[in-house]
Amino acid sequence: MRVIDHWINGALVPSTSGRTSPVYNPATGKQQASVGLASVAEVDAAVAAAKEAFKSWRLASLSKRSEIMFAFRELANANRAKIVELISIEHGKVPSDAAGELARGMENIEFACGIPALLKGGFSEQVSGGVDVYSIKQPLGVVAGITPFNFPAMVPMWMFANAIATGNCFILKPSEKDPSVALYLAELLSQAGVPPGVFTVLQGDKVAVDAILEHPDIAAVSFVGSTPIAKYIYTTGTANGKRVQALGGAKNHMIVLPDADINMAADAAVSAAYGSAGERCMAVSVVVAVGNIGDAIVEAIAERLPKLRVGPGTDPDAEMGPLITGEHREKVASYLAGAAGEGATVVVDGRDDDLPTEGFFLGASLVDNVKPGMRVYDDEIFGPVLAVTRVDTYEEAVALINAHRYGNGTAIFTRDGGAARQLQFDINVDMVGINVPIPVPVAYYSFGGWKASLFGDSNMYGPAGIEFYTRTKTVTSRWPDPATSSVDLGFPRTR
Ligand code: NAD
Repeated sequence: MRVIDHWINGALVPSTSGRTSPVYNPATGKQQASVGLASVAEVDAAVAAAKEAFKSWRLASLSKRSEIMFAFRELANANRAKIVELISIEHGKVPSDAAGELARGMENIEFACGIPALLKGGFSEQVSGGVDVYSIKQPLGVVAGITPFNFPAMVPMWMFANAIATGNCFILKPSEKDPSVALYLAELLSQAGVPPGVFTVLQGDKVAVDAILEHPDIAAVSFVGSTPIAKYIYTTGTANGKRVQALGGAKNHMIVLPDADINMAADAAVSAAYGSAGERCMAVSVVVAVGNIGDAIVEAIAERLPKLRVGPGTDPDAEMGPLITGEHREKVASYLAGAAGEGATVVVDGRDDDLPTEGFFLGASLVDNVKPGMRVYDDEIFGPVLAVTRVDTYEEAVALINAHRYGNGTAIFTRDGGAARQLQFDINVDMVGINVPIPVPVAYYSFGGWKASLFGDSNMYGPAGIEFYTRTKTVTSRWPDPATSSVDLGFPRTR
């Protein structure tokens, strides 16, 4: 069985811990490799190499760092097909979803290409007689990123683009479920000119994560994953004196007002709920049908589902792939099994679909009459299950969403600009979509989350990413007035 390595100091390095984790092909259900899991000693060695590399990376000019980001962009674009294939074969998402992930990730590389402009500080001349004040953004040192399985290319790019461009050395601990993409990105970064030790991939599980959280030479940790682990990372990392940003899970609602364009809303709900088999932190999980639009929107979504082709990434017509593991598939299916007993109506049951016989597939499912207090409403399901809940008024819709523990994204579908604008004021979530179902901000804004969707006070990527990976130094300087200076310059002073 092939064993997947680390990337340390610019080269592939096999794990010596003797511990491994299986890597499946979710479309066949078969194990295709093992990944070596780092021991504490392996983490220490990788951090030592990164710490050493920081000494010279810290000195790389802004134009050099920008040039490397541009070179990486060209290489990644030239090798798009290979990256897409690697994502698809370990994660299971179909190539169109993988290509979309890569495109959204690459925006962050493009943003970081502008690092000379992004790192400009402030300057105040003559704050007092002969005194100037200016501020500088300096890198933190060695920083780490711990990422989830569902975006094995994009989420690392959210982090490493800005971390490296700002002058840090970045250690990536990818998900052990799909660890290969990270290694390929490491290879491309190296070809682009990133020096050894500046970008590291440490494969691992809780042992590696805990070693990262406790390591005295790691200054900051970025995390994206589930809420319980995000909370753990935040509390443990900050207790160890680190700067931490930890993004967690979600339950994203899509309000459909009675005046919405039904076809537009139904198309949006289907792509946002079932794309990547619902394994997206910004997936729409609940449609909130307001007033009398409930029957029409349920019917419009239901009639689209039989046309959604479920299959492996190797099927060029497949629109939705399998779930990540057999265990996760069973967990998602259990919500369908329990929904009727909780009082909901299963309109389309994906367990009944004519699915490929191998692999972790589950068909697109639709559950109506869902209410708070039901598991299918309260939990993040992270699979192709869309719930519909019906309310009488806009105010009820807002109150329902604001009462949920998660606060990642909310979308509204309406033709009423005033109602859409009102939602911006009223809703307690970070990212709002107006007739846009998945409002993931472009790379020159930042991705966030409120309530149980984000721990810490820093959003990720974009301007927030530049802030997170730098610390500010402020200099107050006074130079003597040349006219009064007693130093002999060897030529007459003039003013
Ligand atoms: P996860 O929390 O299980 O794993 C995330 C990372 O944490 C992985 O690298 C994993 O190895 C590590 N980890 C897992 N258990 C750990 C433990 N006990 N101690 C220390 N480290 C541990 O998440 P996942 O299943 O890989 O990803 C899906 C979750 O990620 C969903 O909840 C989804 O909403 C969330 N997510 C959030 C965002 C966002 O931007 N908010 C984006 C993508 C995914």
